Amino acid sequence: MKEGFFRPREYHRPNNLQEATWLLSSFGKRAKLIAGGTDLLVNKPPEVECLIDVASLDLNYIRKDGNGITIGAATTLDLIERSPMFSAGPYVVLSEAASNMATPTVRNMATIGGNICNASPAADLSLALMVLDSTVKIYGLDGSRVLPIGAFFEDVNKTALAEDELLVEIHIPMSPAGTGASFLKLRHHQTAIDLAVVNVATRLTCSDDFCEDARIALGAVAKRPIYAEKAKRLLTGKRLDGKLIQEAAEIASKEAKPIDDVRSSARYRRRMIAVLVKRALELSITRCET
Ligand SMILES: Cc1cc2nc3c(=O)[nH]c(=O)nc-3n(C[C@H](O)[C@H](O)[C@H](O)COP(=O)(O)OP(=O)(O)OC[C@H]3O[C@@H](n4cnc5c(N)ncnc54)[C@H](O)[C@@H]3O)c2cc1C
Repeated sequence: MKEGFFRPREYHRPNNLQEATWLLSSFGKRAKLIAGGTDLLVNKPPEVECLIDVASLDLNYIRKDGNGITIGAATTLDLIERSPMFSAGPYVVLSEAASNMATPTVRNMATIGGNICNASPAADLSLALMVLDSTVKIYGLDGSRVLPIGAFFEDVNKTALAEDELLVEIHIPMSPAGTGASFLKLRHHQTAIDLAVVNVATRLTCSDDFCEDARIALGAVAKRPIYAEKAKRLLTGKRLDGKLIQEAAEIASKEAKPIDDVRSSARYRRRMIAVLVKRALELSITRCET
């Protein structure tokens, strides 16, 4: 926990998105949106004088239609973990990531929007959303825009959001038939409140034993969550066997750019990426449905 002087003087509950963006642009760097507060109240940014609560914006929903699943930014992890929409098919990767985060008490408060907007390189939901090819809808003074989630993360704790913008919702497109996905996480002490030493999500679309398409996302190994593009290219269009999976896992670990920090050495992280990617790919194969 950072020791800092965190005593915001103002608290606002805007009634709609326009009011929220107006408040954001008026206060600039002195304002922060607050959802569950489970990151913000730990980080305590000292420059913040005004909190803008997203709770009144009706962004707590999970909806499904013919195009896919849409999740409001203020949807809690607990709701995602328990939703039947994430209990089957490749979409289980999201509830798998959510249920691997923190404790039930934190998951009751914490939101999907807060997890990705905090932009921690170790955030769990980011990886699941990346392998599902999600897009994010952003709202600001100039209206709304949509970005692929991979382009949303720019650096440690830095997203593509401008000062007047907020995240409204996340859209997950329908995956093709024959797709399976999985999420795996290694923690330092393997307790519920440990952040990931490394975390991995994979998604494969298979026909017979052939890989038609692949996604591999890696966390806690760079300044932002990354796709292992070379490993994906190696797998695509090939017959999936143990040798190929092992090779893809080794390549993915070379694509990682880990650092030494309190949770692990860079060397250990790199080794563990290979182990986790191999296991996650194997699990995804068993989940490919035709
Ligand atoms: C004990 C503990 C254990 C934890 N374990 C894990 C873990 O295992 N894995 C993990 O990934 N995280 C973990 N976290 C971190 C945290 O719980 C999650 O990142 C959570 O999802 C944050 O959501 P929140 O709603 O609480 O965000 P908040 O703290 O409310 O906000 C976080 C950031 O996002 C911004 N924000 C929030 N909503 C929006 C929006 N709609 N638009 C734009 N910006 C927005 C805020 O301004 C702030 O900068 C843990 C935290 C604690 C306290």
